[in-house]
Amino acid sequence: MKEYVLSLDQGTTSSRAIVFNKAGEIVSVGQYPYDQIYPKSGWVEHDPEVIWETERRAAEEAVKKAGVEIAAIGITNQRETTIIWEKATGKPIYNAIVWQCRRTAAICDMLSAKGYDEMITEKTGLMIDAYFSGTKIKWILDHVPGAHERAEKGELLFGTVETWLIWKLTGGKAHVTDYSNASRTMLFNIHTLDWDEELCEMLDIPMCMLPKPVENSALYGEVAEGIPGLESLAGVPVCGSAGDQQAALFGQGCFEIGEAKNTYGTGCFTLMNIGGEPVRSNSGLVTTVAWSIGGKTTYALEGSVFNGGSTIQWLRDGLGIINAAPEVNPLAESVSDSGGVILVPAFTGLGAPHWDMYARGALLGITRGTTKAHIARAALEGIAYQVTDMINAMRKDANCDIAVLHVDGGASVSNLMMQIQSDLLRIPVERPKVVETTAFGAAALAGLYVGVWNSLEEIAEAHESERTFYPERPAADAEKDYNQWKRAVGRACGWVEK
Ligand code: ADP
Repeated sequence: MKEYVLSLDQGTTSSRAIVFNKAGEIVSVGQYPYDQIYPKSGWVEHDPEVIWETERRAAEEAVKKAGVEIAAIGITNQRETTIIWEKATGKPIYNAIVWQCRRTAAICDMLSAKGYDEMITEKTGLMIDAYFSGTKIKWILDHVPGAHERAEKGELLFGTVETWLIWKLTGGKAHVTDYSNASRTMLFNIHTLDWDEELCEMLDIPMCMLPKPVENSALYGEVAEGIPGLESLAGVPVCGSAGDQQAALFGQGCFEIGEAKNTYGTGCFTLMNIGGEPVRSNSGLVTTVAWSIGGKTTYALEGSVFNGGSTIQWLRDGLGIINAAPEVNPLAESVSDSGGVILVPAFTGLGAPHWDMYARGALLGITRGTTKAHIARAALEGIAYQVTDMINAMRKDANCDIAVLHVDGGASVSNLMMQIQSDLLRIPVERPKVVETTAFGAAALAGLYVGVWNSLEEIAEAHESERTFYPERPAADAEKDYNQWKRAVGRACGWVEK
């Protein structure tokens, strides 16, 4: 029995490949960073050939280092990024338009002006935004000469990054997208689990160019013969796929309703498993397909905090009170509280549930006794408060509580911040041993298909906890501070004059 799974983790700044064993441990890693392309202010592109080439090399390196036989391949990817290529030659007709790219904002405004907001949210679980793939497809078809006619004739194919990688790996045999990625296109009906004719018509996108939507743990195809460097993988099934955030939710073992994960990266990304029915949010959160396995679909609520770890970067680069991110912890721990200082890290406005683009950062409660240590502590608290606001909105929307918050991402190593988070949410906060939860999620989906793991329970067993933080402060004290935070947010909101 082969027991190793290769996970391809195609991210926004680098392509990585990780081999996992049955215990969920990392056996080897391959990684290649690649260039961002900024043709204009607010525009972001990647070269699809570079995405493939760096991912191929990462896979080659990981497999070579591991020196084991691979049972299955799973894929996870930066979501929403849009690629269109020629069916006959495999050549992209334009660079990949990256999720962050704002070039289609005007198309989004046009859709809103035509009154499409309600219909789009009802069908897709999303709000109209340039992030999602639909308007990016339209932009390429409208701007590359002849593209629209060629698409109509069936000569062009669209895919998000997992679609592109699966197509390349299978030698052009499989043109598929998994449900979690499809649900980020603004063309996919999350109730019927299929492309929506009305939405495609709205954006004038020929449906023949769309990939076939497939489950997240299913056979998409086998690795083709003769891919340079990947010869040893020929014939290996490609059989698991999920967008990065959904893969992390899966990799964190959040298989039951009310289980949630938060990634503390530059920003924070929270997903909560809401079970088999797509709950609609009242606080501006997105409803998305988490995964679909064996005919059973699980949905999630998703929200993000714009400034998470970037707040710590600001202490380093803006204020210069620390030299490196890890220094924030001993500095913040050197005082027993923030001395009444509250930092609202609304550097670029506030997201869910506040949704205020005009909010700006605020540092309140400063006295002559305030030191850099108080500010460092207020920064960690400010991140945890924002996550608390968002999770409280999820609790309300989903009308169920969260038993445990599973955490990952670069800033989750801060023990103090995790303790503050647990005190605020009044639930345990669990940090796993293997923090590569996104890559593991994709491996788990693929491994589940071939029987490396036979059930969700077995996958959960491979997920080992490193440390769990429990509420320690009296609830009344935490609540008092949280109320202060809410007052501070009120001061930060609407700061920039319209
Ligand atoms: P991303 O994937 O968004 O690039 P990462 O998951 O790599 O982010 O996390 C990077 C963030 O983690 C940085 O913003 C940094 O400030 C923060 N960080 C890194 N090390 C620590 C640490 N020891 N304590 C607290 N925060 C940290």
